[in-house]
Amino acid sequence: MSESKLKAPRGTFDVLGEQASVRATLEARARALLEAAGYERIETPVFESTELFSRGVGESTDIVRKEMFTLEDAGGRSLTLRPEGTAPVCRAYVEHGMHKRRQPVKLWYLSSFFRHERAQAGRYRQFWQVGAEALGSEDPAVDAESIVLLTRLLAEMRVGEVRLRLSSLGSLASRSEYRERLKQHLRANEASLAEEVRARIDLNPLRAFDSDHPGTRAVMESAPRLLDHLDAEDLEHFAEVRAMLDGASVGYEVDPTLVRGLDYYTRTVFEFTSDALGAQSGVGGGGRYDGLVEQLGGPPTPGIGWAAGVERILLAGDSPPAAPAPVELFVALDGTDAEARRAGFALLHEARSAGLSAQMDLGGRSLKGQLGHANGLGARYVAVLGDGETILRDTQAGGQEAMPTERVVHAVLRRHHDL
Ligand code: AMP
Repeated sequence: MSESKLKAPRGTFDVLGEQASVRATLEARARALLEAAGYERIETPVFESTELFSRGVGESTDIVRKEMFTLEDAGGRSLTLRPEGTAPVCRAYVEHGMHKRRQPVKLWYLSSFFRHERAQAGRYRQFWQVGAEALGSEDPAVDAESIVLLTRLLAEMRVGEVRLRLSSLGSLASRSEYRERLKQHLRANEASLAEEVRARIDLNPLRAFDSDHPGTRAVMESAPRLLDHLDAEDLEHFAEVRAMLDGASVGYEVDPTLVRGLDYYTRTVFEFTSDALGAQSGVGGGGRYDGLVEQLGGPPTPGIGWAAGVERILLAGDSPPAAPAPVELFVALDGTDAEARRAGFALLHEARSAGLSAQMDLGGRSLKGQLGHANGLGARYVAVLGDGETILRDTQAGGQEAMPTERVVHAVLRRHHDL
């Protein structure tokens, strides 16, 4: 009896074929765009101590309450597969003393993340994000630059029907006063609220703005708005960010109900959605997190960043896969003896060492089968190693020439340069 077939776990997927090459295009564009703007690549561990996320992302968030893949190592330490990238980047900033470098320190990543979510189209348990974080400056120009970069990346990946919503959550100080007002409003209308919202009045009242429960929505219509309660400095900061975005011709809507799901945000927050996606319309988002580094044990350090979902960019985008590299030389064998195979193998590696892209049949095909394979690959030259001589064919210009095997690479290179 045969064993049952094993499948990838729910909410995970294999990346192969065309998907792999469109992802390569996204990575190349992100690298070019972000590195030209002074962002350096960072790669943090796949798992971190659980405390990093409970302290950093916040106990009241969906991520920490119900979405983390947490395990215990043999020494009883609690580890968690990273559900997001900002807290790990801040941890690395503190751990490597990056506050001593010229500020802001700008870092970008393209990595996989893990959340125990209900899997559906556009929502997975292992997914990829491209992200960028700038630490050490509260200049509104850093906010604007960060937003412009994501706008450009989405445009370059031809993500359709993009909307950018923007708001400011104010500094922690101005927000705490506002939170009290909002709590009062929620308590006064408690009977109309969704149970989940009611349970979080004290923990995270702002999340009530995210609810799609009709009663809650009605209560939120008349709720006080954070944007009306910002202090003068926060208002000025927000106005400056908007002015710079206007100057860069980035379109946005100010949405006072935008609260992001993570506790660490302060001041600027933003979210990109695409109407080309279904229910999971969020493509990417981010904001300022001026208290996070300190909360993780580092010096007081402002920061801002974003993350965008790779799968969602590709679902909503229309970027062609990178063309496969052309095969310049195909080595075919006329005969099956071991000596000819060894000579063919040696030629293959000589060609590759000379910088040519070269392949040979590894499937034991007949000569006819090998020539068919070369044709399928679109190989420019085919060397057929026969008894005593090698024939080099030019598949584009036509024609062929007999020569000793050791002259093949030279002949291909010479013809290449003549073109
Ligand atoms: P967040 O860190 O929740 O703000 O997520 C940033 C972006 O990552 C979202 O806008 C999505 O594009 C993407 N994303 C978040 N969660 C998932 C998921 N479970 N599956 C696929 N993409 C996701």
